[in-house]
Amino acid sequence: MPVKGLGEYDTNNIFARILRGEIPSKRVYEDDFAIAFHDIAPQAPIHVLVIPRGPYISIADFTAKASDAEIAGFFRAVGHVAKALELEAPGYRILSNMGEHSGQEVPHLHVHLFGGKPLGAMLVNR
Ligand code: AMP
Repeated sequence: MPVKGLGEYDTNNIFARILRGEIPSKRVYEDDFAIAFHDIAPQAPIHVLVIPRGPYISIADFTAKASDAEIAGFFRAVGHVAKALELEAPGYRILSNMGEHSGQEVPHLHVHLFGGKPLGAMLVNR
């Protein structure tokens, strides 16, 4: 049984298609390592997804295979996006689902960035 969140990258997943410009997105940031765009079904007043440009399925795949420059560039991009959205003063939350138990839907690494109001408890179903 393949492990969800690892294995072979699907070059036609929806975020790969957004990266190639085949599907529209509301981009808020881009640099050499990452792009960021609004989530299509926001779960907070601000809900942005930050994704690396490289073909990585999940945080597990990314931390195993990406170069140091890609890893640094990606996480710096997360910080840049939060700052650009003026979320540092009020605060924000980042989250990345990996694999089956997390409910990861899209097999391209993405960090959810939530903000714009007090976000409440970290997990609803404990
Ligand atoms: P996850 O469950 O962590 O894999 O999250 C996938 C996220 O991608 C969900 O929050 C979806 O609302 C979001 N999403 C799916 N398709 C699109 C799209 N075309 N543009 C922006 N966000 C999307």
